[in-house]
Amino acid sequence: MLQPVGVGHKSLADYTHLVGRPLIEEIRTLSEELSGLKVLHLSATAFGGGVSEILYTLVPLMRDVGIEAEWQIIIGREEFFNATKIMHNALQGNPQDLNAGEWAVWEQFNHMNAEALAEGWDVVICHDPQPAGIRNMVPDKAEHWVWRCHIDLSTPNPATIEHLLPFISDYPQSLFHTADYVPQGMGGHVNIVPPAIDPLAPKNMALSPEDAAYVCDQFGLDVDRPLMCQVSRFDPWKDPLGVIDAYRIVKESLPSVQLALVGSMASDDPEGWDFFNATIAHAGGDEDIHILNNFNNVGSIEVNAFQSHADVVIQKSTREGFGLTVSEALWKARPFIGGNVGGIPLQVENGISGYLVSDVETCAARSLDILRDPALGKALGRRGKEHVRKHFLTPRYLRDYLRIFSELLAAAPGAAPAAEAAGQQAAEPAS
Ligand code: UDP
Repeated sequence: MLQPVGVGHKSLADYTHLVGRPLIEEIRTLSEELSGLKVLHLSATAFGGGVSEILYTLVPLMRDVGIEAEWQIIIGREEFFNATKIMHNALQGNPQDLNAGEWAVWEQFNHMNAEALAEGWDVVICHDPQPAGIRNMVPDKAEHWVWRCHIDLSTPNPATIEHLLPFISDYPQSLFHTADYVPQGMGGHVNIVPPAIDPLAPKNMALSPEDAAYVCDQFGLDVDRPLMCQVSRFDPWKDPLGVIDAYRIVKESLPSVQLALVGSMASDDPEGWDFFNATIAHAGGDEDIHILNNFNNVGSIEVNAFQSHADVVIQKSTREGFGLTVSEALWKARPFIGGNVGGIPLQVENGISGYLVSDVETCAARSLDILRDPALGKALGRRGKEHVRKHFLTPRYLRDYLRIFSELLAAAPGAAPAAEAAGQQAAEPAS
């Protein structure tokens, strides 16, 4: 038996005022024929990173509309997570592929998890590559299988994707954030569905400026001085060192500026601590650089406060599957600057709802533009929030999954597949 995750309760009705009645009604209609469907989400960790963030909202909302949704965590140990971290990096373009021993470890753990998996599911959704091999090993344990890819597969290491492909290509349904991420040779029905954020979760719910400042003050920030902030795992692809370099350039012209780098440590990310220490070393003892993580008691409310209080929020990634932190910042109507990679341009229109940058110097220049002109920041933030409201709030994401479930149920032998519906309409305005 794999470890189940407790997710609490959420009610779809609570989202009506945010996303509009038509979307909520569409979800209710779709869910009528899905009542009692036994759906399992399988992922590698219940803590840290975007996948767990999403499932804590999606699973209770699926339950609220009548689906018997569960979320379970696969069994893994250090050697498995070391292998899957190399795989994750290679799939995002790193030249280092797994060696034969590391592939063997990945397969061995997939076998172990395949054995431990309970039977009798209508749908099993495997998230990311860690559990992706299970389907081939025990196809009969579920009626239908779905693979959800959360990472940037646009330029994968060729050897790594070639090795992984036989394990993922036969999934009858798969989901990718953008069409660029779909590997050549992917079979089944491919859906282009970006994820979404939960506007009612403690991380994103409305926080007054006074409350946000009060929380930031407790972490030693001077709430009367300008703040640049990046919230992300300590990972080279998130480029916190580049953010420090951009902050240093800004500080030459604006000595009062401060920087907060807030990063949670994920249990399936063994590299995290090394890179956390490298980031501290790069900060070189600058007292205006605040480096915080979940072991300093930075939880969802604190992330909310930092994002809400910051004068500019940055996500200077050099690879990014989607980047939930982008929508999180925009939803708080903050001026935003992000790397022009992966899922970030989906969420930000350059110069309209934020800025997209590809180097440290431009990141610094745009930060200064915003810090010197609060009206500019306000206008960017307002447009960013509307874009997120239309495209990137959880009910839209729930609707896309329900459409896929409906297609799976409808796809009896001989029936015409329900075409591209979910994929093409996934990111349409919610209302
Ligand atoms: N996050 C957090 N605390 C931190 C750093 C990150 O709660 O200190 C959250 C962040 O708010 C976001 C998620 O972790 O919801 C990261 O998701 P994203 O898609 O941005 O990146 P990933 O980590 O999946 O690559």
